[in-house]
Amino acid sequence: MNIIIFGPPGSGKGTQAKRLADRYGIPRICTGEILRESIKKKTELGLKIKNILDAGNYVSDDIAVALVQKRLEDVDCAEGYILDGFPRTLSQAEALDEFSEVGFVLFLSVSDKEVIKRLSKRRQCPKCNKLTNISEGESCKECKVKFIIRDDDDPEVIKKRLIVYHDLTQPLMEYYKPRNLVHVINGEQSEEKVFKELLLALGDDD
Ligand code: ZN
Repeated sequence: MNIIIFGPPGSGKGTQAKRLADRYGIPRICTGEILRESIKKKTELGLKIKNILDAGNYVSDDIAVALVQKRLEDVDCAEGYILDGFPRTLSQAEALDEFSEVGFVLFLSVSDKEVIKRLSKRRQCPKCNKLTNISEGESCKECKVKFIIRDDDDPEVIKKRLIVYHDLTQPLMEYYKPRNLVHVINGEQSEEKVFKELLLALGDDD
C-alpha cells in the first residue's frame, strides 16, 4: 500500500498519516524527519543538508529524491509506506515513479480561510515546544510558562505559506489525476470522520 498524503498546513495531515501508518503497519515517511536524521549522522551529505537548511532554503530535488529512494529500500517499507512532505515538486514526483509505484494520492482539502482560522489559534510552549490550542488555557501546565504564537503561525506568514503550498501542490494534483489515483477528502470535518473517509478511499470499509 503505497500512499502519498497532501494537505495544507493545519489540515491534520500528520495526525491522519500516523493513524493510517498504525492501522496498516507501514511507516509514515516524513521528509523533514529523514533530513534531520541524516544531519544527526554527520555524514558529508548530512553536513551539506545542514548548511542548506540553516540558510533557510529547501534541499534540492536531487538530494530529496536520493534520501527518499534510500529510505524506501528499508525493510519496513516492504508492505508499503505513507509519504508526507514528498513529492514537493513535479520533478520529485517524476523521479518517484522511477523507483516506486504510487497506489493512492490522498488529498486533505481545507480552505485557506479555515487554515488561517485553525493556525491562528495555535500556540506553543516556549520551554517544551508543545503545540496546543488557545482553548487549552494560557500557560503550559508542565512548564508553568505562558504559551506564545510561533513565528510560523503569524497570520502574514500563514498566508505566504499557503501561496507556496498552492503553487507546489496544484501541478502535483494535475500530474496524478489522469491515473485516477487522487482522492480528495473534505478535511474540514472531525478527525474521526476524516479518518473514516480516508479508509473508504483506500477501499477499507470496515
Ligand atoms: Zn511546556
